[in-house]
Amino acid sequence: MDTGYFSDRKRTDTSSIKTTTLLSFVLFAMILVSIIWGLATFFINTYYESMRAKESLSVANSLEVQYREFPDTFEEYAVQSAASNRIYIRLDSAGNTMEFNGTVGLNDIDSFNKDIEIINKKLKRSPNSNVTYNVRDTTTESNSRLLFATRIERPGEISTLYIIAPLYPDLVTTRIIKNMLFYISVIVLIIALLLSFALSHRLASPIENLTRAATELSQGNYDVKFDGASFTETKELARALNQASYEMERSEFYQREIIANVSHDLKTPLTMIRSYAEKIIDISGDNPEKRNADLAVIISETERLNTLVTDMMSVSNLQSNNVELHNETFDLVEAAKVVYESVLVLSSSQGYEINFHPSRPAYVVGDRNKIMQVMSNFVANAIKYSGDNKFIDLRLQKSAKKVAFHCIDHGVGIPSEDQRHVWDRYYRTSANHERYIEGTGLGLSIVKGILNLHGASYGVNSEEGKGSDFWFEMETVRKPSARNMAVSKTETIGEDDGEEG
Ligand code: ADP
Repeated sequence: MDTGYFSDRKRTDTSSIKTTTLLSFVLFAMILVSIIWGLATFFINTYYESMRAKESLSVANSLEVQYREFPDTFEEYAVQSAASNRIYIRLDSAGNTMEFNGTVGLNDIDSFNKDIEIINKKLKRSPNSNVTYNVRDTTTESNSRLLFATRIERPGEISTLYIIAPLYPDLVTTRIIKNMLFYISVIVLIIALLLSFALSHRLASPIENLTRAATELSQGNYDVKFDGASFTETKELARALNQASYEMERSEFYQREIIANVSHDLKTPLTMIRSYAEKIIDISGDNPEKRNADLAVIISETERLNTLVTDMMSVSNLQSNNVELHNETFDLVEAAKVVYESVLVLSSSQGYEINFHPSRPAYVVGDRNKIMQVMSNFVANAIKYSGDNKFIDLRLQKSAKKVAFHCIDHGVGIPSEDQRHVWDRYYRTSANHERYIEGTGLGLSIVKGILNLHGASYGVNSEEGKGSDFWFEMETVRKPSARNMAVSKTETIGEDDGEEG
């Protein structure tokens, strides 16, 4: 079956990671190449010009020093300078002229005499000891040149040093630079393309794998494994998806379980109600004693149905956050005692021994009825799962700012791998399936919802075959004055514990 995702991908998708990476890299390479070409075309001459001016000045300075201080080696030095800087050097001194030509670029200049005349005139008119002048040749750009002249004074003589240097790189150099730039551009583009292909593939492939796996998961294949390849982000995503897939599988399993459990739980009382109603019609209708006994069975079965439906509604309400808490400040020890007394009658008739270990009064803020529901649930479970050892302890432990309620049984216990899950909806440990014990798997998830609403901490310590200790802990508050027994949680929570005072 072709899914929307894959059929979409067959068209060129301009917003895909692959296309976006490819386009970004190509764009980046093109911008880079344009910058290089822009610089080469527009700025190379300006740059060359300013370099030339600086260079000529520094050559002139060294030649001047050389001429003044080491006149014997001046000629040799001037030849070298002309060649290495590709310039024309001339020194006029008392009827003697020395010329050194190292220029390569200035092809069409037959003689530099005209230039010397121009700069000489400028030097004479100038108050400075040296002058520079640029001659620009608009027809042959590479013939543009920089003229420089400076006076050198030695005892008894005044000489003039001239330098003529090409202003722009010669045509061959320019061609070579442009050729090189062309190859650089092509190489940059190819590298950008290769890199973008490699990178886009590396980026997209884990995401594509995750999408493929998610599509399989959406079709009900919970065995699928999400693999996030080598990126931290995709690894995290894969981990989260694996967790989600595990939760989905578990949730579906529990949903199926609850349907089986609930239908069984609904069916048993309904069958009982029906058969006892038939019995009343057929047999006991005229015998008030028997009829009342049968009616009592019917009433107790409807009670069971009622409890089951109420549980289901509580879970649904807690799940949709549709629960209103009627908060008040109450003594948890006293509330626990009420719960204890309510089960005492019932349990003693069935051989249970329930012991109550109160602490000093411990005031907490919360919905008293709901907290009592939590304690009742723990106790009911302890009775249900206590097996042959019928001793149950209800213990209150008070510390500086907290009070804990423990419901301890010595029954079947809970395997350690199941302990985390008993708070989940519809969860029933495998041990309890084997020996069928009536229950919906909803009780502890209601408990969890209520305790979470109260910001209480809770847990279970249990060992398989040895028993369980279900507990919760709440913050205590100051004992309220008689007038102020019902107060809102926000007004009291977090205050110092000082009810004794
Ligand atoms: P149930 O209606 O099945 O009792 P609960 O939500 O109250 O549902 O409990 C969930 C599961 O936790 C139970 O099915 C049982 O397997 C386990 N459990 C709860 N309390 C105890 C206990 N005191 N001892 C052993 N197992 C327990």
